[in-house]
Amino acid sequence: MTAAASTEQLKATAAEAGRRLADASAEEALRWAVERFGDDLIVASNMQDAVLIDLAVKVKPDVSVLFLDTGYHFAETIGTRDAVDTVYPHIRIVNALPEQTVAEQDSEYGPKLHDRDPNKCCHLRKVVPLRATLARYSCWVTGVRRVDAPTRANTPIVGWDERNGLVKVNPIAAWTDEEFDDYLSRNGILQNPLVGEGYLSIGCAPCTAKVAPGADPRSGRWAGQSKTECGLHG
Ligand code: SF4
Repeated sequence: MTAAASTEQLKATAAEAGRRLADASAEEALRWAVERFGDDLIVASNMQDAVLIDLAVKVKPDVSVLFLDTGYHFAETIGTRDAVDTVYPHIRIVNALPEQTVAEQDSEYGPKLHDRDPNKCCHLRKVVPLRATLARYSCWVTGVRRVDAPTRANTPIVGWDERNGLVKVNPIAAWTDEEFDDYLSRNGILQNPLVGEGYLSIGCAPCTAKVAPGADPRSGRWAGQSKTECGLHG
């Protein structure tokens, strides 16, 4: 499959693989994606950990990794990205940048847009750069899991991303928290040090808080606001 494949061809590919790989393991899903798309595929990571990257590298050592470099990340997240780049020397990290720097955005929209209109801020700093980057690929791979949130309960292993117009593979969609933690510890996978401090779902610094013991991990995202998703996986 090449980047020249039509949207209809890609949709048909996603539908067929979605049925066939409905119960596939993470490795089987990644192997199919790499064999089908090769360099026309990119793995997304928010640098909370390198589980998905580690799985992908075992199938394609030089896999491309997409990081949304919003300009609002914790220093620890940037440090994790740089550590990942060192530990997996053959990967290609693609830093997707917003059109405006934080200073330019502040000057056009006023400071702290994230506090006043987080949907607009996420649109400018995440959704648009993601769409622009994904436009260069036919398939993206995410670490979305069904247990992340009720809105993700029906996440397929392979599906069609209508919003961005490409195949979307979620190799660990069916993993429980126990399976995830087991893979992380057994393989000594890199993890953002903030996780150990109680930040269980890490996004931009202004919109990420520590999570109380036993609480929903995503309750630390946009705490105190009605927003619960960036708009990346809708
Ligand atoms: Fe802006 Fe917060 Fe969204 Fe980051 S998570 S893009 S700071 S609103």
